[in-house]
Amino acid sequence: MCRILLMKEPNGRNCLANGEKGAWCRLYFEEEFLNEVKEKNDIVDVVSSYVNLKRSGNRYIGLCPFHSEKTPSFFVNPGMQLYHCFGCGAGGTVIHFIEHIENLDFVEAVKFLAQRAGIPLPEEKDEVSEFTRLKRNIREMNKIAGRTYFRCLNSETGRGALSYLRGRGLSDDTIKTYGLGYAPNEWNFMYRTLKQNGFSDEDIVKSGLCLMKNGRIFDFFRDRVIFPVMDLRGNVIAFGGRVMGDGLPKYLNTGETPIFSKRQNLFSLNLAKNTSEDYMILAEGYMDVIALYQAGFQNAVASLGTAFCEDHSRLLKRFTNRVIISFDSDGAGQNATRKAVDILKKDGLQVRILKYSGAKDPDELIKKFGPEAYRTAIASSLSGVDYELSTIYPKGGFSDDEERIEYTKKAIGILKNIYNKLELEVYAKKVAEITKISYDSILAQVKQAQKHKKLETPVDIAEMAMLRKKSVSQSLLKLVVENPSYFPKIREKIKAEHFREELHKKIYEIFCELTDASQKPDVAMIIGKLNREEAKTASEIFMEKEPFLDFHIYLDSLLQKIENEAETVSFSDDDRDDMLKLLEYTKKLKQRNDKNDKKDS
Ligand SMILES: [Zn+2]
Repeated sequence: MCRILLMKEPNGRNCLANGEKGAWCRLYFEEEFLNEVKEKNDIVDVVSSYVNLKRSGNRYIGLCPFHSEKTPSFFVNPGMQLYHCFGCGAGGTVIHFIEHIENLDFVEAVKFLAQRAGIPLPEEKDEVSEFTRLKRNIREMNKIAGRTYFRCLNSETGRGALSYLRGRGLSDDTIKTYGLGYAPNEWNFMYRTLKQNGFSDEDIVKSGLCLMKNGRIFDFFRDRVIFPVMDLRGNVIAFGGRVMGDGLPKYLNTGETPIFSKRQNLFSLNLAKNTSEDYMILAEGYMDVIALYQAGFQNAVASLGTAFCEDHSRLLKRFTNRVIISFDSDGAGQNATRKAVDILKKDGLQVRILKYSGAKDPDELIKKFGPEAYRTAIASSLSGVDYELSTIYPKGGFSDDEERIEYTKKAIGILKNIYNKLELEVYAKKVAEITKISYDSILAQVKQAQKHKKLETPVDIAEMAMLRKKSVSQSLLKLVVENPSYFPKIREKIKAEHFREELHKKIYEIFCELTDASQKPDVAMIIGKLNREEAKTASEIFMEKEPFLDFHIYLDSLLQKIENEAETVSFSDDDRDDMLKLLEYTKKLKQRNDKNDKKDS
């Protein structure tokens, strides 16, 4: 059956290496069970508990929960049991939806939905999911490691580390809340501990707690203060380690493991998510976050061992609409701030930037001037534009006209990105005030700069991208899936090898296999066999807003062509031009028919 096809999915090793939660894990459940879960969880019902959906024709439409938008581009199709967002490309079946919105992996999402529909879970099979077994073991190892490091900190071995943390102003309560610990200065202390608990060398190395070098296994963290990283449910999933002296690297973090991805976790979000404040503070490192927590700001988070990225932003967006960035005040901090502002704004979050003087980071500010100073800084935090303007302002003010002009030029470069009239007026006035140049001149310069900017980017870029995306192979797949009666005819001529795009090929193969197993393949069934990334692209193919007009004509001619030339034809974007011409022609034909219809009636 289709099981054979699933076996051809990414091999286990790859799955583990990149935390891929693809079709490989799908083996965990029986096909029938998965079908029941999908049947009893109608996609409209499930999505409705997260998104306000309105009916529109035979589909439902709403504001996408995965990106920020004002006009809805998120569609749910009850007939196909699919969703797709034409804004950000998210899409798939009800299981993909739950994976995405609840931040779960495939197995967890299926369990979630089974529970929701009151379907009893099948007995867990040991040999089936190696990946699930490994994840469970790594979670267990992290739990043991967390406890052990904590115990070490509070024992004789950890005396130095404890006084280091106290020296940095942390109270015993804070140390306990964060479960801080100490990794002893030994080569294989943690390795021995995990071994005693019955874990295999292979699993221990995969947990990231130890590493293999020249055939020997060593502890990853040695003589460091340990900061456990928790997931949203409070499970330890990784660790950060900081040296106490001048050693390098200063910080060391667990690498990517099957249960931890640094792009998808924020330090202390498990605590910050419970805040009653309507904003979150984005800090640079864990020491800042912990210092803020202790000073009464329990809504601070930080990215770990990586720059703040789009995934982090989406994660934050689940809990707040407002973010205050509180990075270090040095050059690196300023650059990181600018990047984070861009990312957060793109997600539709309100962003403000904390600016303060007399300290290099929040930790120091609070130590020197107390929590009140930080609260004041929050109250007077700057908008993104104000912040940008403040970073280009010369320290001692303008010493001559040249500096004034230089500043004005740079300011116009910042203002030209504001297209909201009201907002532009506010900032143009500010710049006019600062530079003593008239408001009218500033505004005229900005408008001029905006004109140039528009010329740089073609207006219909989105439209062109859409056209580029529609390849012939996509259209063919859509046609086959929507009209299975065409399939026998098509299959005679077109083999999976004809598809150049791997994903298109895969969809076609799934379709063939399901048909061979005499199951009536529908869209949800096919997309259900793809991982989340693949489902995104695939749902777009099938949920295309505009149906392809009279594609049948094109297909007939294509089949004819294959027959005539008696050779194989690969489908690719090269055929796009033909396709577009044909679409144009069929559009005209349709218009003419419509006109005739009107005349007739
Ligand atoms: Zn979207």
